[in-house]
Amino acid sequence: MAKLNTVDAVVVGAGFSGLYLLYLLRKHGFTTRVFERGDDVGGTWYWNRYPGARCDVESMQYSYSFDEELQQEWHWSEKYSSQPEILAYIQHVSERFDLSKDITFDTSVTAGRFDETANRWTIETDNGETLRAQFLIMATGCISTANMPNIVGIDDFKGNIYHTGNWPHEKVDFTDKRVGIIGTGSSGIQSIPVIASEAGHLTVFQRTPHWTVPARNVPMTDEYETLWKENYAEKRANMRLSPSGSLRSVPPLDLSALEASDEEREEAYRERWAAGGMTLLKSYNDLLTSDEANETAASWVRGRIAAKVNNQKTAELLSPKTYPLGTKRLCLDTNYYETYNQDNVDLIDISSAPIDRITPTGLETGGHSFTFDSIVFATGFDAMTGTLLRINIEGRGGMTLKEKWHAGPRTYLGLMSEGFPNLFTITGPGSPSVKSNMLTSIEQHVEFVTNTLIYLREHAVSTIEPERKAEDDWVDHVQETANQTLFPKANSWYMGANIPGKPRLFMPYIGGVGAYRQKCDAFAAAGYEGFRLGLDSKAVAAE
Ligand SMILES: Cc1cc2nc3c(=O)[nH]c(=O)nc-3n(C[C@H](O)[C@H](O)[C@H](O)COP(=O)(O)OP(=O)(O)OC[C@H]3O[C@@H](n4cnc5c(N)ncnc54)[C@H](O)[C@@H]3O)c2cc1C
Repeated sequence: MAKLNTVDAVVVGAGFSGLYLLYLLRKHGFTTRVFERGDDVGGTWYWNRYPGARCDVESMQYSYSFDEELQQEWHWSEKYSSQPEILAYIQHVSERFDLSKDITFDTSVTAGRFDETANRWTIETDNGETLRAQFLIMATGCISTANMPNIVGIDDFKGNIYHTGNWPHEKVDFTDKRVGIIGTGSSGIQSIPVIASEAGHLTVFQRTPHWTVPARNVPMTDEYETLWKENYAEKRANMRLSPSGSLRSVPPLDLSALEASDEEREEAYRERWAAGGMTLLKSYNDLLTSDEANETAASWVRGRIAAKVNNQKTAELLSPKTYPLGTKRLCLDTNYYETYNQDNVDLIDISSAPIDRITPTGLETGGHSFTFDSIVFATGFDAMTGTLLRINIEGRGGMTLKEKWHAGPRTYLGLMSEGFPNLFTITGPGSPSVKSNMLTSIEQHVEFVTNTLIYLREHAVSTIEPERKAEDDWVDHVQETANQTLFPKANSWYMGANIPGKPRLFMPYIGGVGAYRQKCDAFAAAGYEGFRLGLDSKAVAAE
């Protein structure tokens, strides 16, 4: 058998995580290959090219902090950047640090098997390449596998079908077209106003209304940019130790909503609504832990919806009532509710009568048929675990990750899983990940993993994996932390509830980005507490 190519590390994915990994591992002398199924870098921002796609964390914060010159030189044109600008930034980073030469594009990693004799991973790709690596690092993203619902007749539709998470590279022209859009989560809320501005008619099919607050996106001002750039060191340090990995424009009040008077609450909510962004959710310290406190903010937002939407039946339908504010991903929008005042937009409630079938000319629901030129699926993702579990990952004793995670993901710190030595997950389930500014969390994980590899090399350690007890305790801690909040009350993708048959449990860690980082640092400083380190047999033999 031909000798397989061997590298120190294989990284899967070339989004923000994979690129920073490649940069840092290379810098520290680890031979690294990256595989990416797309034909360019970008990850989320390569795939999600739908109209209106943009970040909902401010760009001055949703950007890399690892290179001072990069963060000083790059100019963001808006407060919340659009997808093309974020993609251009990622491409710039790739060119600036000459990353593409170690990335194999158009190639999916299909399998990884851990060889317990050699302590190496054997990795297979869909282009027939097989290679060996000591470390396998999954930078595959939390939100990178689009969820296409299984609706009867989908292949019969004669018009165009799109999914927001897998959008064509060329512009889709909806001018004067009859368009149907299914789904009103974050991607739906971002794309609906933009599609409605072009389409002849837009019909929105809504199963569950989402909570959304105004983004108040504005062009970047010199003053704001300078404020950040002159204080980046301090601001980034504060972001790293903050609960969400980002700083709020209006500071949170460390007070219960129930301790405030009606007038004080009105002022607090009004101020944050006017400022825009996620800050509303942090008005008081118990909005995500007390139903009663949450309802004060929820009813206030319902009042805003009623004020914005002319047709009160539509306003009612758009007002969430079945789960607390913020327990599904809070969306940021630009003119979302106002869009329903346009004559060319209809809202169809499919909560009680789901879509029966897609027909050659449109779709049928609740005894009505609709005719469309195009149907857009804004139906989200098989989040957190979906992408990982589509790869056949076999650890010790041939156990697959899918078998081990059959009742839900089991990790230590969201970084590793027992039985899978030297396999790391960047922003894996059990880490702050999607409940944070992901750039802050990505940088923390990439640096943690790289420092770990350096430690192993310096101490002649060949394998690292979690101890069973440490992992069990962490899984319990993640659930206990979530159970102290209102999050488990929503049928959210955080809970796996959007995918039929997926285990229901809260997947991200919501103990706070800063607190989580301190735990990771403390464990590492204590010689990787909670991890089992396997000595390098060659080093042992030489002693
Ligand atoms: C529309 C949208 C908006 C978002 N907005 C924000 C925001 O405002 N703030 C925020 O913090 N986060 C946001 N996110 C989350 C976003 O995913 C992260 O911020 C970040 O981009 C993740 O980077 P990543 O490199 O970890 O993963 P990704 O960007 O998802 O990249 C993973 C890459 O791995 C590749 N891949 C997966 N499996 C394989 C395989 N088997 N073989 C080869 N390649 C593979 C994929 O093709 C993909 O390119 C948003 C997500 C979406 C979908």
